[in-house]
Amino acid sequence: MQRVKNVQAKLSEYNIDALLVTNMFNVRYLANFTGSTGLVVITKEKAYFVTDFRYTEQAAAEAKGFDIIKNEGSIFAEVAEIVKDDNIEKLGFEQENVTYSTYNLINDLIPCDLVPVTGLVEKLREVKTEDEIALIKEAIDITEKAYDYILGFVKAGVTEIEVANELDFYMRKEGAKGVSFDTIVASGVRSAMPHGVASDKVIEEGDMVTIDFGCYYKGYVSDMTRTFAVGDPGEELKEIYEIVYQANKKVNESAKAGMTGAELDAIARDYIAEHGYGPQFGHTLGHGIGLEVHEGPSLSFRNEEKLVVNNIVTNEPGIYVPGLGGVRIEDDLVIKEDGAEVLMTTPKELIIL
Ligand code: ZN
Ligand code: ZN
Repeated sequence: MQRVKNVQAKLSEYNIDALLVTNMFNVRYLANFTGSTGLVVITKEKAYFVTDFRYTEQAAAEAKGFDIIKNEGSIFAEVAEIVKDDNIEKLGFEQENVTYSTYNLINDLIPCDLVPVTGLVEKLREVKTEDEIALIKEAIDITEKAYDYILGFVKAGVTEIEVANELDFYMRKEGAKGVSFDTIVASGVRSAMPHGVASDKVIEEGDMVTIDFGCYYKGYVSDMTRTFAVGDPGEELKEIYEIVYQANKKVNESAKAGMTGAELDAIARDYIAEHGYGPQFGHTLGHGIGLEVHEGPSLSFRNEEKLVVNNIVTNEPGIYVPGLGGVRIEDDLVIKEDGAEVLMTTPKELIIL
């Protein structure tokens, strides 16, 4: 119930008496509930879990310490009952997660002020527990094994989609529940597209191939990118590879608690710019991972907040040259007091198959 207590400690800061949690990642985080329908209400003293008959048994087993309420009509009618019974005057709701029609519905049903809230639970999720770190490590372990396997599968003549399917299936066989996002396999000139989801393009001799992929393991994700070549990719791409590799390495060596997302982003960005490819690094350096593949904190020039111990973030610099190709290298890091633990062990020197 520590996570519930952490939310309760934040209620007064947000000037609310209770929080209605409808984002299913936040529901899972707070109540340990792995089903797909349900919501949480956290008041100053209590924690409620509301779901329908399909999930009440599961909720009783998973959502320990919560009062389990079964809804027969609208799930929000039960929230209205809680609001009445507990004399709640200001109920926070997760505005990013509530549609306009749901807002109208709850505004009609719930007899108190509704206060839009952003990022309350998400902010708590940014700091991982040891258990969460262990699950992310398991997800990364599967991902790295899959990468090792796929290097033996890729050759000139196979399509990007064949590579992606092989990779995805391998991760499932190794215990992943699924992929954490659509696998990116971008080869040749397509590797200049940072988010080139696998296509039916045939991989050819001389292509750079960027693979960006990850999996879910017990609710937690991994996120990894490696770029390699099939045959000699030519001098310019080899040079670009080295610049990206060094930028990634510098960030791995510098990251630690107390640095801001902007400072880390600048380490990679300045290095790449000094080597003449500033405009070709068009995205931010990285993002948090956890229950979702994109969460806080972001490693972006906009983030002036300091990183704290047990944030898990990606470090993914890249250079993309239209008409030629691109390179991205991505590791996942746990931020520590005096440095960062790099969770990937896969070597990063350029591999030419
Ligand atoms: Zn990625
Ligand atoms: Zn990423």
